[in-house]
Amino acid sequence: MSQKYALALHGGAGPKAGEDYSVTEAHLAELAKEGEALLKAGETSLDVVKIMVANLESSGLYVAGKGAAPNIAGQFELDASIMEGHTRRSGSVSAIQDVVSPVGVAKAVLEKSPCVLITAEGANKFAHDEGFEKISNPKDYYVLPIGVSQADIEQEDMMHGTVGAVALDIYGNLAAATSTGGVFGKTEGRVGDTPLIGIGTWADDDIAISCTGTGEFFIRAGGALTTANGYKLAGDTLQEALWRMLDEVKRLGGDGGLIAVNRKGEIAMAFNSDGLKRAAISDNMELVSTTFTPCR
Ligand code: ASP
Repeated sequence: MSQKYALALHGGAGPKAGEDYSVTEAHLAELAKEGEALLKAGETSLDVVKIMVANLESSGLYVAGKGAAPNIAGQFELDASIMEGHTRRSGSVSAIQDVVSPVGVAKAVLEKSPCVLITAEGANKFAHDEGFEKISNPKDYYVLPIGVSQADIEQEDMMHGTVGAVALDIYGNLAAATSTGGVFGKTEGRVGDTPLIGIGTWADDDIAISCTGTGEFFIRAGGALTTANGYKLAGDTLQEALWRMLDEVKRLGGDGGLIAVNRKGEIAMAFNSDGLKRAAISDNMELVSTTFTPCR
């Protein structure tokens, strides 16, 4: 056991330039401090990323969980995933409906199911069988997050938002989790990168990653696993590996951002959209919470 720990959170790469995100920055900062306390007290990275993402989901401040937007048929179909690095245990759900915490269900898939990904009706049934809290009246439950208007969610140009967390715990283990309401105006049954292990979320012995952005382009670019391979196999620094993958997303026509932590406790973040709502803290780094500050 060491005293080394690190935690990074994101609230999506879809903020609009000029909008005031001080409330989300304060929320991310407070949550990061809570996560730090948990890591210092010996909670595992897997539990901490789940707790962080569940809190981001229930806040209604981001396009995930309570802040999710409906698809074109008016249904709320959500995606989430979680992965533990040293065991590679993974769980995810896609197009799940009417549950308060998609990441909680994803963690139950990781812990209790032989599957990695359960989708749509099967995911709803799994959540029900596992006793997850259900939303009885979706129209009353969901809210518009800060910076998102009714007009935004009715257009179809892939505006987006997501939440995610990556952590290194004091046992030297890494984990990542991501949860989203997807892109606005999405078609029924559309699944993005978020629930795809290796694309929206990845964790192994060396690196943990959570992505956010136009999911179709992250899928085509290979998302998180391409980033991990850049870092592990191509000799990129952590930060270079993030930029290299994001450059490919951009070349293909998409945008977004990602956060990562390695086993040394280094944190890297990058975005090529207007901003990335994010916070980070570690045993040797003061708390940072920002939206538009460029990443180095
Ligand atoms: N990546 C998510 C998706 O495509 C959206 C986002 O991250 O903002 O569903």
